[in-house]
Amino acid sequence: MDVRCPNCGGPLRRFRKLTRDEEAHVRRILEVADPGAYHRCTRTGCRRFQRWSNWREGGDFPEALAAG
Ligand SMILES: [Zn+2]
Repeated sequence: MDVRCPNCGGPLRRFRKLTRDEEAHVRRILEVADPGAYHRCTRTGCRRFQRWSNWREGGDFPEALAAG
């Protein structure tokens, strides 16, 4: 799915589903019960995650999850 990424800017970016570790992080950081509703930017070096339905709602993964 291609959507806007506020970190990357420019053209729409490809996002993918979160891994288990990433979902655990989102659940912990945002205190949401539905981390599966989030996805992350696939551009190299970008750590942005955000809600499928609202690109403004999200954050950044820590460096440790950068490679995911
Ligand atoms: Zn991005």
